[in-house]
Amino acid sequence: MNCSPNKSIHCTVDKCKFNCKDEAYCTLSSVDIGTHEQNPTQTQCVDCNSFVPDNK
Ligand code: SF4
Repeated sequence: MNCSPNKSIHCTVDKCKFNCKDEAYCTLSSVDIGTHEQNPTQTQCVDCNSFVPDNK
């Protein structure tokens, strides 16, 4: 896949359709970050809400 990595958004979620797999960067110009916790205290409490599964 030909992709244009956004070097401001490092991301290793290679199961996301917006991930530039070879370089571990997101290809979007911006992403929406949020949390599913009421009181987030750890890294795993935080989510990228722009994630879309890569079904290809
Ligand atoms: S949308 Fe989120 S999860 Fe997907 S590649 Fe970009 S930063 Fe990573």
